[in-house]
Amino acid sequence: MVYENPDQVMIGLEVHVQLNKANTKMFCGCTTNYTDEEANTCLCAGCLALPGTTPVLNEKSVEYAIKIGLALNAEISEETDFYMKNYFYPDLGNGYQVTQFDKPIVKNGHVVIEGEDGELTVRIRRAHMEDDPGKMAHFGTIEKSTGSIIDFNRSGMPLVEIVTEPDMRTAKEARRFLDKLRSILEYLDVFDGSREGALKADANVSVYHGTRVEVKNISSHKAVEKAINYEIMRQKDAVRKGKKLVQETRHYDEARNVTISLRVKETADDYRYFPDFDLVPLYVGDKIEGIRAKMPELPDAKRERFVAQYGISDAHAKSLTSEKAFADLFERVAQKVDPKVAASWVADIVKGELNYRDMPVTTCDPDDIICVIDMVCCKKISDEGGVTVVRALLDEGKKPEQIIAEKGLSMVGGDFLEKAAKEAIAESPEAVADYRAGTEKALNFIVGKVMQKAKGKADARQAREMVLKELGK
Ligand SMILES: [Zn+2]
Repeated sequence: MVYENPDQVMIGLEVHVQLNKANTKMFCGCTTNYTDEEANTCLCAGCLALPGTTPVLNEKSVEYAIKIGLALNAEISEETDFYMKNYFYPDLGNGYQVTQFDKPIVKNGHVVIEGEDGELTVRIRRAHMEDDPGKMAHFGTIEKSTGSIIDFNRSGMPLVEIVTEPDMRTAKEARRFLDKLRSILEYLDVFDGSREGALKADANVSVYHGTRVEVKNISSHKAVEKAINYEIMRQKDAVRKGKKLVQETRHYDEARNVTISLRVKETADDYRYFPDFDLVPLYVGDKIEGIRAKMPELPDAKRERFVAQYGISDAHAKSLTSEKAFADLFERVAQKVDPKVAASWVADIVKGELNYRDMPVTTCDPDDIICVIDMVCCKKISDEGGVTVVRALLDEGKKPEQIIAEKGLSMVGGDFLEKAAKEAIAESPEAVADYRAGTEKALNFIVGKVMQKAKGKADARQAREMVLKELGK
């Protein structure tokens, strides 16, 4: 889809995905699960690129890269190879990054996202495998730092870098692309997005078909949106003032919400790409179909199935499938209660309460949610009471029955309603007379009195039926 774009804003993304669900690093046996470990403890001679060490390619990371390619509707290169991308940086032990050059393992794919004006197809130019360098921490801000320390735990982590065409026009579209990508990656079970540094994006931004500027290493989806918006504003402002924009790499300072020039943009020549002689060309032609046969159901397919199979709305299906764990929770609940009711409880209430608390969906026991919905449906508790129970489940970790008893959420029974209806009728002779004279609205007054007596713990429809029954006697 192409649409009018008066400012000609073009945004492309380069997304670095850590394959942290692979157990070992890309070229050695060290663990990928280093985030909670002490600095410089998850490494070997290979991670540090000490002389004499040679890389041994981890099969899992290749399989994961192919899975990602298939999920991005892309072509998989049957034969691919590795290059050395040379540059000096203190956290790069061997002075080069192992990456791919003209034969990336994945090319020519696409992802459909929700654009500003309907569906938008974002083309994927390529995705290639590479390894992560170590990590530097700077004292103070990056421009004024007085010193830096290096942790090599991350060195050698398997990465897939996904490069899009500049098909996005607004920061919001870029954010939606990242949300969709993250969801796909989680469905594939190749990475855990909750770990630090699991997904990082560089954004290429240009306005009025002018100079392209790259904003590097933005770590959260929210920050990507803010960084791009800042960059669009900065570039438009420069053009307006007649300043010349230069092709450069900028850093996004999240705390100050500004981008800062880091260096004038390098070209591929600056990196002196050489074939990596330690790694032979990689033939994966015989692996592709086996991996394709074992691909899991992805978000779009699951969303369509939910609508068809459970008869729920597209909006609910979209919300439920954005995270695989929510989709799983919904399906567990929908086996036991009306799927439409399950969808609205899980998508509207449970998801909202979890997001508000920043809690993972795994905190929720599906049986507890089923229990709450059952009790609301059979009017043991009110809708509001149900929401109170969900909140308490998350906050207090108790069982629904216990919460209902402790908070006195049980709805009043038929006996109470009958007595309350009789009293309300006796106390409201005028309203009763009005109702009998044909003023329908007078009934609300009497029902309201019953609800008052029940202190909100009655079902309004039941109360109304009871009043009508008593008036009919
Ligand atoms: Zn190692």
